[in-house]
Amino acid sequence: MGKTYEKSKKAFAEAVNLMPGGVNSPVRAFKSVNMDPIFMERGLGSKLTDIDGNEYIDYVLSWGPLILGHSNPKVVEAIKRVAESGTSFGASTLIENELAKLVMERVPSIEMVRMVSSGTEATMSALRVARGYTGRDKILKFEGSYHGHGDSLLIKAGSGVATLGLPDSPGVPESIAKNTITVPYNDLESVRVVFEEYGHELAAVILEPVAGNMGVVPPQPGFLQGLRELTEKHGTILIFDEVMTGFRVGYNCAQGYYGITPDMTCLGKVIGGGLPVGAFGGKREIMERVAPSGPIYQAGTLSGNPLAMTAGFETISQLQEETYEYFIELGDLLEAGFREAASKYNIPHTVNRAGSMIGFFFTNEDVINYDTAKTSDLELFADYYRLMAEEGVYLPPSQFEGLFLSAAHSKEDIEKTVEAFHKVFAQLAR
Ligand code: PMP
Repeated sequence: MGKTYEKSKKAFAEAVNLMPGGVNSPVRAFKSVNMDPIFMERGLGSKLTDIDGNEYIDYVLSWGPLILGHSNPKVVEAIKRVAESGTSFGASTLIENELAKLVMERVPSIEMVRMVSSGTEATMSALRVARGYTGRDKILKFEGSYHGHGDSLLIKAGSGVATLGLPDSPGVPESIAKNTITVPYNDLESVRVVFEEYGHELAAVILEPVAGNMGVVPPQPGFLQGLRELTEKHGTILIFDEVMTGFRVGYNCAQGYYGITPDMTCLGKVIGGGLPVGAFGGKREIMERVAPSGPIYQAGTLSGNPLAMTAGFETISQLQEETYEYFIELGDLLEAGFREAASKYNIPHTVNRAGSMIGFFFTNEDVINYDTAKTSDLELFADYYRLMAEEGVYLPPSQFEGLFLSAAHSKEDIEKTVEAFHKVFAQLAR
């Protein structure tokens, strides 16, 4: 107990004058947990050390990419080796073919892929392709889903937007926003109503096959199937945004896990192994419309750069079917420990899971969409957050983000985390 964050506080005091809010991405500001940001220095395996020397078991994992944990030896070694031959050429390299083949082998719905440098780029580009391919302008997304900060997608978004309570962002033109229709997640009936009215105008339905930006909210039985049928019937492109779920929910991503084949897929996070990568891909017939083989423009100076491709390749190569069985084992322990501690101290709670993603909510309601996610007690969450950090457990600093597990997490890490739950809930007992 009694961690000090002196160096972090000093660094943040400097940062607020250098960057908006002192950070380079809003979720890092720790606003919703009433703390100043913790500045990190080192990551090794499941552990993270801040600049004051405090150590944490890390369940953020750079917001998802580090599925093998921090500083995985094979990934680091490969990055070093490749860096010695040059960091970027802006020209074709063999490793681009290798990563493309690996991604396509694991995700058969991707018949052709284009690498980009972030998840935002992937979703923005996929939408342009869907619009260019169908000749339609409207898209459908779900409330509380976050797909990056592209104009068309920053409408009723989750993640940092939900945390900061900005339903829409200034700077997104009305003329663009009007083409984005939103309905509640898991609400197939509302989707049907939208299709009845706008079916012939809808270029795409884009969704996280497990929502991860309103906390973790898995699809209810029949939801993904229903979307597949409706989009097929109306000639609308079904886009799975697997930036978060890709290679995290299952060996063949969420689409393999749930057995639903989208027309297009967006990837990010894990496929960059901790370096900046995104990708979009799908049916050959659609992807062949992308420049330079087709007229739909998309490009990037650093797209497919050798360091990022290498980190992604070395990461995905190490993921085996058994890795996902291990995640389930760890997840079972963590969930059981959380439930037991929360019940013992009369803390309202609901747990949602998918693969290595876990969402703990402080509500007794089933969490199936953004409205039910918002029933979670946010003050309780903020207190829990700070106390867990004190106990050496680093969680995503927002109720509307899930926890991630890595292959580097041990059962001992989980046991220590469960001990922390007990200590923390004892202090928060109702
Ligand atoms: N889609 C989803 C589902 C995401 O979770 C995120 C980021 N958390 C993005 C897109 C955007 O990715 P990036 O931050 O790399 O632009």
